[in-house]
Amino acid sequence: MSAELVSTRDGEEAKVKYTEALLAGLAPDGGLFTPYEIPTIDRQTLYRLSKMTYIDLFVAVKSLFVGRTITIADQKLMAEAAFTQDKFPGVIDGNFMPVNELEPGFFIQDLSRGPTAAFKDAALQPLGQELNHVLNSNGNSLRMLGATSGDTGSAAEAAVKGLAAIKLFMLSPAEGMSEFQRAQMGMLSGDNIHNISVLGRFDDCQDLVKELKSDPEFADLGAVNSINWGRISSQISYYFSGYFQAIGEKLGDPVDFVVPTGNFGNILAGYFAREMGLPIRKLIVATNENNVMDDVIQKGVYMSREAKITSSPSMDISKSSNFERLVYYLLGGDPMATAKYMRSFDSRGTVSFSDFGLPGDIMKQIDFDSGSSSHQSRLDNIRWAYNKHRTVIDPHTADAVAVARRFRTQGVPIVCMSTAHPVKFEDTIKEALGFVPIREERFEGIEGYTEDAFTVIQPEVEALKNYIRANS
Ligand SMILES: *Cc1c(COP(=O)(O)O)cnc(C)c1O
Repeated sequence: MSAELVSTRDGEEAKVKYTEALLAGLAPDGGLFTPYEIPTIDRQTLYRLSKMTYIDLFVAVKSLFVGRTITIADQKLMAEAAFTQDKFPGVIDGNFMPVNELEPGFFIQDLSRGPTAAFKDAALQPLGQELNHVLNSNGNSLRMLGATSGDTGSAAEAAVKGLAAIKLFMLSPAEGMSEFQRAQMGMLSGDNIHNISVLGRFDDCQDLVKELKSDPEFADLGAVNSINWGRISSQISYYFSGYFQAIGEKLGDPVDFVVPTGNFGNILAGYFAREMGLPIRKLIVATNENNVMDDVIQKGVYMSREAKITSSPSMDISKSSNFERLVYYLLGGDPMATAKYMRSFDSRGTVSFSDFGLPGDIMKQIDFDSGSSSHQSRLDNIRWAYNKHRTVIDPHTADAVAVARRFRTQGVPIVCMSTAHPVKFEDTIKEALGFVPIREERFEGIEGYTEDAFTVIQPEVEALKNYIRANS
């Protein structure tokens, strides 16, 4: 089993190992690393996986994508270091991704029990361990650069905090994050963690990352954001876990998943799970008012537009970076066509499947679907979950629930992924329910960080370069 990766834009199709992709983040040609072949599992393996604890399930699925570059024994040790009771308080019986059945066949899967109460913890904790392992075995160190619209930042920082071989520069937009998210990042500033506040929006941060990466002086910077293959591949097991819990004894029957989507990382992991053979029927994208992916799925047109600031801020995007990986497979694994598609998108701000000989509803044909939500429906669904089921859900989860309630069908369980803890978005919860959710002890009073925890810069690449030079 090879587990080789290729860049979505590399016409030479040069094969890259898992560990190389992990360190590099983005491919040198601007493409994204993605599996050359997607591994598959048979029914017996599916049955075997269904009996495993989350840590064993994680290793079993992940190892198919890591190949031989890290031994299974080491992968297991790293998973045990990433998923500890200490980092994931409240986890019972090793179930790091528990589901809650609100109504018969209607599930919410809680992915956000980790150290920063974000679903990205469960992918970035393993990523930190893996990086540390690879760097230590090579005697190397690494500067890393990330961009966050909220949750990725603190989750990435928590994942590498204190690892001596890593320096992390994290860009966050001055506009659009919640005070809680800002506080979580501010708390982690210091020693190897540099928080940089960009006077602009998330897209400005992402553009800075891309621009810096194209400069040879900074080409060695690793990426720890939503496009790193290490992150996506660690999320595939979320779907296995959610599937097994929702399906119970009926292993093999279909399940639908609804995923609050921004950069298309989480739902892409669901695509890989389904391609591997997990019986997922529909993968349903839930967007907020920033409905770029809703339009791709419904109309076949990928069109960038200015991101709006919403009350589910971790999904406030104007483009979905990980979508490029799916485009690569939709275009038959043709890197030249993928590069052309992305060039067209980057230069004109819009591109259509029909320009590439694909039907406009190709994504619906392969069982994606989508819906979008609004501030009002977010509030309505927070109220619905609370009034009917005494469950407080966060605004991103509420977007998924809003869409799931439109799509649920008789006889097929539907799982909404819950991507954040409501405590992180108190204002919206208060607006919906009239009270703020109870804070666990670990989150009490965290807003007490100091302002100098963030270095403020203009959205200009020179300002960023100077800061990194001065702190390398
Ligand atoms: C990152 C994030 C999302 C979006 O996930 P993608 O993988 O970028 O689609 C949704 N909800 C929350 C709370 C997030 O932090």
